[in-house]
Amino acid sequence: MPVLVMKFGGTSVATLDRIRRAAKRVGVEVAKGYDVIVIVSAMSGKTNELVGWVNETSPLYDAREYDAVVSSGENVTAGLMALTLQEMDVPARSWQGWQVPLKTTSAHGAARIQEIPTGNITAKFSEGMRVAVVAGFQGVSPEGRITTLGRGGSDTTAVAFAAAFGAERCDIYTDVDGVYTTDPRVEAKARKLDKIAFEEMLELASLGAKVLQTRSVELAMRYNVRLRVLSSFEEQSDNAGTLVCAEEDIMESKVVAGVAFSRDEAKMTLVSVADRPGIAATIFTALSEAGVNVDMIVQNIAEEGRTDMTWSCPTDQVTRAEKAMAEAKAEGVINFHDIIADTDVAKVSVVGIGMRSHTGVAAKMFKCLSDEGINIRVITTSEIKISVLIDRKYMELAVQALHDAFELDKAA
Ligand code: ASP
Ligand code: MG
Repeated sequence: MPVLVMKFGGTSVATLDRIRRAAKRVGVEVAKGYDVIVIVSAMSGKTNELVGWVNETSPLYDAREYDAVVSSGENVTAGLMALTLQEMDVPARSWQGWQVPLKTTSAHGAARIQEIPTGNITAKFSEGMRVAVVAGFQGVSPEGRITTLGRGGSDTTAVAFAAAFGAERCDIYTDVDGVYTTDPRVEAKARKLDKIAFEEMLELASLGAKVLQTRSVELAMRYNVRLRVLSSFEEQSDNAGTLVCAEEDIMESKVVAGVAFSRDEAKMTLVSVADRPGIAATIFTALSEAGVNVDMIVQNIAEEGRTDMTWSCPTDQVTRAEKAMAEAKAEGVINFHDIIADTDVAKVSVVGIGMRSHTGVAAKMFKCLSDEGINIRVITTSEIKISVLIDRKYMELAVQALHDAFELDKAA
């Protein structure tokens, strides 16, 4: 029988009543003839509470015990979901990660999935079990200890199961009804997308981060798992939610799929560094060793052997970056006149696979911003994305103007 993976996030299993509603949706798919693998999160708020208990007990905790504690939230929902299905006369049982076994690395708290043998669950399906309820977010290390996959990891569990079992689709039930052209709280005309390509979804992660763990999208892209994001609070219809899929599966798409933004961006400039081979390597090695996540990088034209180097990074990493640069200067590995941090900027990006084959997107974007009197401070581009840094006070205006300029409120 074809296999379907259905994942229910924390808000979709927050109460016994919501678990019952989720179980009913599972029952509908079983009735259609699917063998269903249900991946559950912990009840909403539970994981935060467990993490809090760990920190309170042991600030410098043993990560193996952190995992033993925080993985437990999913065990509770897996058992309750299996019981609820049994009450509905659907043959179901729960599986904890180690029972499958979902094998991971030993990187506790951020383990990576290595293998999901399908034998145990498949054997139960062939004995007549119709639903395998699997605790998301957890696995087992080669040493036999319980591991977790990092916050939001149940999405990745779900996609990994869909890939391992060759599922027809992986449905992610959450509290939003899909992926939007931009954040509806910033632009009321934001439109839900019926389909979005994996690459676009990855680039829009700043919007979608709350919807899907980025790793789950990477995994779905690698194994070509059709991923659907939909709300567990709304009535179901066949084209509900947003399908995240390969670009070949999208017949008609707009050049720009969405506008993403990030408020907490800082622009830093090293003024007058020596322009010689190895200087960029030295600067960015020092920053990376200090744990600074550099995003955009611009090196200016050199004059008399000196140049300015500009980058962007999250606002809360500015102090760390300043410290790393001051230390490098004191040690004599980097020589610069000054370091300037501008923490009043925001990043706005337009994203779309259509940019690969259409010209003029950058021109249109810059014209739109200039019409609004918005000054662009830094520009970077990739094959399917153009990003600009602008003054933060114009962020909302820029998002709205670009949404209009690219007519994202209208379907393709
Ligand atoms: N419960 C875990 C968390 O809150 C994993 C998940 O729900 O995806 O991060
Ligand atoms: Mg989540």
